[in-house]
Amino acid sequence: MVAGAGGGLIAAIRGAQLGLDVLVVDSDADFRRGNNTSMSTAMIPGPGSRFQAAAGITDSPELFLADVDRKTGGTADRRIAAALAQVGAELVEWLADDVGLPIELPTDFDYPGHAVPRVHSLPGRHGSALLGHLLDAVDRSARIDLLAPARLVGVAPAPEGRTAVLENPAGQREEITARAVLLATNGYGADRELVAAHLPEIADAHYHGGEHSRGDALRIGGELGAATGFLDAYQGHAALSAAARTLVTWTAVMHGGAVVDSGGTRFGDETTGYSEYAAVLAGRPGGRGWLVFDERIDGLCRAFGDYRDVLAAGAVRRADDPAGLAELIGAPAAALERELADLADVAAGTRADRFGRAATTALHPPYHAVEIVPALFHTQGGLLVDEHARVLDTAGEPVPGLYASGGAAAGISGRGAAGYLAGNGLLPALGLAYLAAGHLARSTRNPSEGAR
Ligand SMILES: Cc1cc2nc3c(=O)[nH]c(=O)nc-3n(C[C@H](O)[C@H](O)[C@H](O)COP(=O)(O)OP(=O)(O)OC[C@H]3O[C@@H](n4cnc5c(N)ncnc54)[C@H](O)[C@@H]3O)c2cc1C
Repeated sequence: MVAGAGGGLIAAIRGAQLGLDVLVVDSDADFRRGNNTSMSTAMIPGPGSRFQAAAGITDSPELFLADVDRKTGGTADRRIAAALAQVGAELVEWLADDVGLPIELPTDFDYPGHAVPRVHSLPGRHGSALLGHLLDAVDRSARIDLLAPARLVGVAPAPEGRTAVLENPAGQREEITARAVLLATNGYGADRELVAAHLPEIADAHYHGGEHSRGDALRIGGELGAATGFLDAYQGHAALSAAARTLVTWTAVMHGGAVVDSGGTRFGDETTGYSEYAAVLAGRPGGRGWLVFDERIDGLCRAFGDYRDVLAAGAVRRADDPAGLAELIGAPAAALERELADLADVAAGTRADRFGRAATTALHPPYHAVEIVPALFHTQGGLLVDEHARVLDTAGEPVPGLYASGGAAAGISGRGAAGYLAGNGLLPALGLAYLAAGHLARSTRNPSEGAR
């Protein structure tokens, strides 16, 4: 049984392909629009994929692992990072070949922290398309049943596996016996108390994730003696449109855009990463700022459905010159003009950026600007798992018949926000679900496999 119809659907589709019958339950009747997989930008790392080879890009699991190590300062769970690095290419190729997803490899920009282009996506670059394709595959399979709304509230040992306790919105309970249960219920971003306890630096920011991410895996796993880890890890984002409440892609920054505060001043190297920049922005006066870019960048960002939504909401403002831009932002013209001139010097190579930002392309009028607020997207800590996605107890032994994936499991971003690399959300969500299904299918065929 799979609890959670986001990334968890991968376990159902893979499990069915390997001969398992799977029940998927989701607590949210509106999960198709409300979960994080559907809200995402559908960026999935696949180091060493054939899509990269076709684009002439040399990559490998080892190169990806080196990037994870660099971004997390060596604090990520190495076993899980290695397992996901190994399975990433197989996963994106399987999504293309066996599930029928129109996988593509964007190569027109770099994501912070990735040495080479390796985040695969779909046309439109939106998770709603990803989830839609997965649900089509579920519909096509006679081995998968989907039940929503039904919330998993407990898991207990049973002679042939596990008893899952389900609850409907009226509070009625039902017990289902399954060989194993995969907790794919995401993290605890929607539980304000847990967020305040574990993530104080981002607790006051806007939460932009699924409302059913209530920490259920922590509670259910905890009752079975599961160990937890990395609970202070999270993905933030510094560029949620204040007006549209939709993601302004960080592509705007990576192509040369700058983030200024309400005083028109830059306050760091934006290219270090959008996740950690959320808390930095939260600390500026008013806890908000502006993402400034130009016509060229606006054109590049239009590949993203989210950006087109920001445009459609009228949140992208335009100014013909620095003075007009300053007026738009409500910032002193002198400060903003100085920032733009400094950035032009950095782009021309005549001055080093005072925050260490690498040389970038200069911005040219007319300027574009979006008011942005920092956001918490999802939490990255959770149940400790092994390389088969089996949940581990506090002695490091697998809890029988219990798997976890995605935000329910501890991820590969180390601690805090700075270890988050683009794709560190979906790779554990899809990759651990894929690995869990493979392990359960093997151990069903050959019970001695379960011990490994
Ligand atoms: C705007 C945005 C953009 C993002 N972009 C990217 C990206 O490009 N790349 C990337 O790697 N990551 C991205 N992420 C993060 C990524 O979306 C998540 O890490 C990932 O989707 C988590 O998958 P999941 O399966 O764990 O959770 P979800 O997709 O949220 O699915 C969990 C499901 O479990 C259900 N559920 C919860 N509790 C229960 C219960 N007790 N019983 C039954 N069902 C339950 C929920 O209703 C939900 O449908 C983004 C996140 C956001 C918010």
